Amino acid sequence: MKQLLSKPAYSLKDFRLLPGYTDENCGVQDVSLETRLCCQGDSYILLDLPFLSAAMQAVTDVKMATALAELGGVGVVPLGDSIEEQCGKVKNVKHCKAGFQTDIITFSPSQTLAEVKEVIEKTTFTTFPVTDTGIFHGKLLGIVTDKDFDPRYDLGLTVNARMKKKVQVGIEVEDLKEANRLMIQYGHGFLPILSREGTLQSVVFKKDLDKHIKYPHATVDAQKRLRVGAAVSTHPEDRERIQELVEIETDFLVLDSSDGFTVYQKRTIEWIKKKFEIPVIGGNVVTAHAFQMLADAGVDGVKVGIGIGSGCITQEVKATGRGQATAIMEVAEARDIYAKGNRYIPLIADGGINSPADIAIALAMGANTVMMGNFFARFSESPGRTHTIDGKMVKEYWMEGSLRAHNYRRYSLTGKRFFEEGINGFVPYVGSIYDFLPVSRKQLEATLSNTGASTIEDFHKLAVLELQSPLAQRDGQVHSMILADTLAEPLINVDKTIYN
Ligand code: IMP
Repeated sequence: MKQLLSKPAYSLKDFRLLPGYTDENCGVQDVSLETRLCCQGDSYILLDLPFLSAAMQAVTDVKMATALAELGGVGVVPLGDSIEEQCGKVKNVKHCKAGFQTDIITFSPSQTLAEVKEVIEKTTFTTFPVTDTGIFHGKLLGIVTDKDFDPRYDLGLTVNARMKKKVQVGIEVEDLKEANRLMIQYGHGFLPILSREGTLQSVVFKKDLDKHIKYPHATVDAQKRLRVGAAVSTHPEDRERIQELVEIETDFLVLDSSDGFTVYQKRTIEWIKKKFEIPVIGGNVVTAHAFQMLADAGVDGVKVGIGIGSGCITQEVKATGRGQATAIMEVAEARDIYAKGNRYIPLIADGGINSPADIAIALAMGANTVMMGNFFARFSESPGRTHTIDGKMVKEYWMEGSLRAHNYRRYSLTGKRFFEEGINGFVPYVGSIYDFLPVSRKQLEATLSNTGASTIEDFHKLAVLELQSPLAQRDGQVHSMILADTLAEPLINVDKTIYN
């Protein structure tokens, strides 16, 4: 029977937080933003910063996923590519920082330096072990790097002619700290680790150690590789993709659906959970019923949000969707009830989250993390090109349901029956994520501190949210003043459109 829900659905922008008592345990310096991304067996994948970059072609490429993981969040590589391309991107992110590296390109002494040059040009790698067999676990004979040969004269020579044969190594070193200590003692940029028989076991690189010191919040797996997720669809043709993403040790899968309350999600989650141990994030949903269905199917995390993405036209073309605040509150309540007798399933608020205030309100309402597209598309590290429009720098941002992205697995209609659910446009350019995100971190820490919370779990319990009248909202924005355009844009981190 038709139902009419008479209470309005609310936007995140309808609410503000009341300050709570800040005691000596929750000053800004005491706040931890560590949070649960999704279940992983009996435990959780944790993030040090509750931010995910959206699984969108305009948002998450290798550069973005690497930068965000270095800064404590995590990226999701979108579906648009072929299996090979998507797996290649996941591998590239995971290789950007690692402790003991075991999957690096290796040469045999009889290969040519022309082959080495080709690999250097195709990848970002410059240091290669040389083994008797040319494969990784062969006997180590030397090391060849981009500095060992001159591409103008040496390309016809073999690797043997130019490789360094005297290489200091570690023998059966299992402790990363010890490996790093030896590498620093020997004064090289790398340290091969060998078995007692002289076969290559792994290589440790100084650039990884430097990154570890530079990015203390980085999101890494047990082997100290950066974490990254991958989007997959529920279509049967994607089963092979799922299998390959599992094989290359993708950290988690995200089901890429505009509406996750479907039998297809249920079947796909059950299929993945039966075959593999990889965590699966389902969604998107906006109701308690839909959450319950995904939870019963064995999902490890749930994305919340339909019809509210910044360039989304779903509400106009299909009339489906829900105010993001109402959606998060209802799903978070269902999750908390479910957690009393079952697992606690983390929630990811996805869509319509562009400003520090949106982030804070979504988390206060019960989300454990936020996924953002528009917010991340603004950085130099996103894949879109930069343009100047009316003297202002902008970046291209196109939605997955636009013709430009043509993500027919997410927006299942194909060919002539494809209709758009998102637009193709621009967002303001704000500079590098490396300059901007530390400011976002500080803003969120300050919010938690003001509300008397020192962790996101505390924040869920202590936050007092209040619905604001339209006039109260107006008072909370800049008013009765003209904004000087001399503000340092990257440090302001506000969406100026809300001032208009
Ligand atoms: P934004 O951060 O507000 O730009 O929203 C990004 C989110 O919008 C993504 O993570 C998706 O969940 C959703 N989305 C992406 N493309 C489309 C689309 O074409 N139509 C509707 N929603 C979309």
